[in-house]
Amino acid sequence: MFDAVKHLFGVKTFAHGIHPPDSKNDTKELAIHQFPFAELLIVPFSQHIGKPAIPIVGEGAEVTRGQMIAKPDGFMSVAIHAPATGVIRSISLTPAINGKMTPGFFLEPYTASTQEVMEGPPVMPDTASSEEILSAIQNAGVVGLGGAGFPTHAKLKVPEGKSVDALIINGAECEPYLTTDHRVMLEHAEDVMKGIPYLLRATGAKTVVIAVESNKPDAAAALRKALPADLPITVEVLPVKYPQGAEKMLVSALLGREIPSGGLPLDVGVICTNVGTTAEIGHLLPRGMGLYERVITVGGPAVKKKGNYRIPIGTPLRYILDTVGTEDDITTVVMGGPMMGAAASSLDISITKGSTGVIAFTHRETGRVNEIHEYPCIKCGACVDACPIFLNPSQLGILASKEQYETMVDEFHLRDCFECGCCTFVCPSHIPLVQKFRVAKAASRKAQAKAAAEAAK
Ligand code: SF4
Ligand code: SF4
Repeated sequence: MFDAVKHLFGVKTFAHGIHPPDSKNDTKELAIHQFPFAELLIVPFSQHIGKPAIPIVGEGAEVTRGQMIAKPDGFMSVAIHAPATGVIRSISLTPAINGKMTPGFFLEPYTASTQEVMEGPPVMPDTASSEEILSAIQNAGVVGLGGAGFPTHAKLKVPEGKSVDALIINGAECEPYLTTDHRVMLEHAEDVMKGIPYLLRATGAKTVVIAVESNKPDAAAALRKALPADLPITVEVLPVKYPQGAEKMLVSALLGREIPSGGLPLDVGVICTNVGTTAEIGHLLPRGMGLYERVITVGGPAVKKKGNYRIPIGTPLRYILDTVGTEDDITTVVMGGPMMGAAASSLDISITKGSTGVIAFTHRETGRVNEIHEYPCIKCGACVDACPIFLNPSQLGILASKEQYETMVDEFHLRDCFECGCCTFVCPSHIPLVQKFRVAKAASRKAQAKAAAEAAK
């Protein structure tokens, strides 16, 4: 009710959510800097949701920065481009963030040669068809740079029988510590505006809203200054609240449309795209180029030279931390923000297209967390009040402890949980609810796959 009243008085927001410390002050003022090349770049074939790309160069091949080195394998797949001019030393297994080994290129950059990027034939939004734009985005290797890693061309493809009238460009960046989108909006507002016509042409949408949280007034001002007179774009400033950047929250706050359970923004005529992804489309497509590096926040209490860096895809985590310097008592490195990111399983993993941040913590922060004891649920309801999609995390937590995973899915909408972590953050009993939900989802998926295999016999 209170949130409905706020909407009436012109404050656009969503119901529930939390206010964790935003911890953005260390890096939000720092301009984007180019990161140097590591001696060896490790570029996995699989960097996104969907099928891994297929290599088109072999061991010993000399490649040029920006050259396509792996092509898409079907619709749910995107190309990969060489992050540096150099030689493919080997193609072998490399660790992914979850510890699994996946194949990738081991590319040794040449130090003496130029690292300039070759441009290809431009694709322009006023002359290319919708299909040509989607194909160009796929071949440019663009995936959701906000961390989701979903192939962007697949997201923009409007299925038969559906239509889209509005685009939301997500510049909310509500995760603590992360400031990459903030700096991109500030420093590359023109690229954001150049990217939007491609999205309009590809989807047929008529209006565009760029969403920015109110802790980035300079970014909102830069975007407004760059607004083209001939495009239907508005910039909306939203209150600071986590998880404001989640698609369901944005669609609800900005357009007052509620996405049904299990549905997508597309079901209510909307497509949401990250602002960094939009800027890359505006930068790459007019130059006929592919994605070979991305902007990443490197920060957290354990990092000495915090900043926003443009880092070649494939740069190993160990090299990044060595270059920026770390405190002696560094304990944990999180890939992404601390709310939705995941702890790195090894320093040998490398930056991929979905990496938004490298946030490192010392023993001071993680030690405190590890020492906190988990107590039984006291039924206080704080998690229920925090959940932005009105699930019952308390009940889900109890069911998870009893391993009643199918009940969680069938009766308590576990699949709608997008793992924002709000419930865990507020729980006074320190119950790791979101971690339990991840385990439950994985177990349920496995059980369903097994049942499907049995049925197919
Ligand atoms: S992690 Fe899931 S259950 Fe918990 S608050 Fe977020 S959406 Fe709700
Ligand atoms: S916040 Fe924690 S203690 Fe309170 S109801 Fe939810 S699970 Fe139980």
